[in-house]
Amino acid sequence: MAKTLRLILGDQLNANHSWFKKANDNFLYVMMEIKPEATYVKHHIQKLLGFFGAMRQFKHLMEQRGHQFIYFKIDDTHNAHSFEKNLESTINQEKIIRFEYQLPDEYRLDIQLKEVVSNLAIETTQVYDTEHFMTTREDLAEMFKGKKQYLMESFYRKIRKQYGILMGPNGEPTGDKWNFDAQNRNKYKGEVPVPPALKLENDLSGILLEIKAAGLEWIGSVKAEQFPWPISRVQSLELLHYFTTKMLVHFGTYQDAMHTNYAYLFHSRVSFALNTKMLSPLEVVNAAIEAWKKNEAISIAQVEGFVRQIIGWREYMRGIYWAKMPEFANTNYFEHHRKLPNYFWNAQTQMRCVKEAVKGSLENAYAHHIQRLMVTGNFALLAGVSPDELDLWYLGIYIDAIEWVEITNTRGMSQFADGGIVGTKPYVSSANYMHKMGNYCQKCTYDYKKKYGENACPFNSLYWHFYDRNESKLSKNPRIEMAYRTWAKMKEEDKEKTLEQAEKYLEDIENL
Ligand code: FAD
Repeated sequence: MAKTLRLILGDQLNANHSWFKKANDNFLYVMMEIKPEATYVKHHIQKLLGFFGAMRQFKHLMEQRGHQFIYFKIDDTHNAHSFEKNLESTINQEKIIRFEYQLPDEYRLDIQLKEVVSNLAIETTQVYDTEHFMTTREDLAEMFKGKKQYLMESFYRKIRKQYGILMGPNGEPTGDKWNFDAQNRNKYKGEVPVPPALKLENDLSGILLEIKAAGLEWIGSVKAEQFPWPISRVQSLELLHYFTTKMLVHFGTYQDAMHTNYAYLFHSRVSFALNTKMLSPLEVVNAAIEAWKKNEAISIAQVEGFVRQIIGWREYMRGIYWAKMPEFANTNYFEHHRKLPNYFWNAQTQMRCVKEAVKGSLENAYAHHIQRLMVTGNFALLAGVSPDELDLWYLGIYIDAIEWVEITNTRGMSQFADGGIVGTKPYVSSANYMHKMGNYCQKCTYDYKKKYGENACPFNSLYWHFYDRNESKLSKNPRIEMAYRTWAKMKEEDKEKTLEQAEKYLEDIENL
């Protein structure tokens, strides 16, 4: 019988998609592990294993439900490692007359698939929505049409109203406030125990052997026989349940905290399950709200803080991506061109905060938001590292890194390379913030209180160096006036020594 071929990408593992409502022999699904996708950046080994593992589980589950699949494994000899070639061979062998795919989330794949389709020897193609996000690609651009600033907060409120999420009967936000951020800023001092990370039974050592056989290169480490990330919808739901019942209660309170003993603290770790679409954003938000309703110990501040990350930041970043690509990928507002220091790849630095954040990332393919933003991102911005180099690093090292959400966070939120589309000011801080929010500064070679002199913490002098060298670009920003006033009031000698110290550190950046 003549068939329709349907392509499923590695981040399109939505088992609830309307494609899968009913098994039908007229449809043949195709999935492929191909080298260009595994090498467009050097990925963390847990990212390669996580994607391949989850793709294979998805195929297995769908076959059990009666759907037909063709699957190209990374080391299959008949795998041509090209979307186009693998599609062509399947079309020829299976007498396919129609091709369908779901909208990719990455610009690069969007262009590539359009080109592939135009070269296929098939007349009819159709593109479907992924049925995952709560907004369309175009919603955000439409909402901010003609405006210079795209405020996340306005977008977030609109979605809450639209979906009736945490809304009272008269259109007021639950708890009479849209935002409880002020209550979410505690340092973690061991007041309450941190639950251990959920253990999942996943042995991916077979896939690791195939990855090795295929000659792929990677960064980071893994215990493949105890793979720590969910690779199926069932496991993703288990992780979500673990979070809502054990961690949500303190999520907001310690959202910004950093601690050397706890890689995950009270964070959910659901980003990989979300970004591969094993979970949907609406079900994650609903699960958190249900848990809050059932458990009096969970305050509105905790649940609102979590909901904001998903329907605020996550959806908003996707909107920015589609509104601003491809130009966004070349933004470099501060014209930063410094090479990324080697310790981003091996954690060999004496700055304890950077060391711990990088070490954790290499071991876990994970760092929580504040480690990404205020440790590695902050340091790179202060030091003037090229956003191109940083993008490759962030895109490779984290298991949840897919360009639409990585680049908007890296260039936009973290590096202010977009000149202020995502954020209203650069996220920079001196060592004071690190000391306030974490325990890194204890036992560090550097002294967080010193701006210059022996063992002065590099974050301090680089912080002022950043403001000083970017005065023409930043001093008129009302949100930064305070910093410039403080700088202006500082004694000339103090300023000179601070800048000299920063210059010295920048010259010797590889040895910090
Ligand atoms: P939690 O803290 O438990 O938060 C819950 C969920 O909210 C996350 O799973 C995520 O889906 C969403 N979320 C929270 N903050 C953001 C945000 N700023 N943007 C989008 N979604 C958010 N997130 C990615 O998913 N992929 C990336 O490649 C990525 N790169 C980042 C790079 C930088 C420089 C920075 C500063 C942030 C980046 N983030 C990225 C956002 C955020 O750090 C991660 O989503 C989060 O750390 C994932 O861990 P979690 O699931 O435990 O999150």
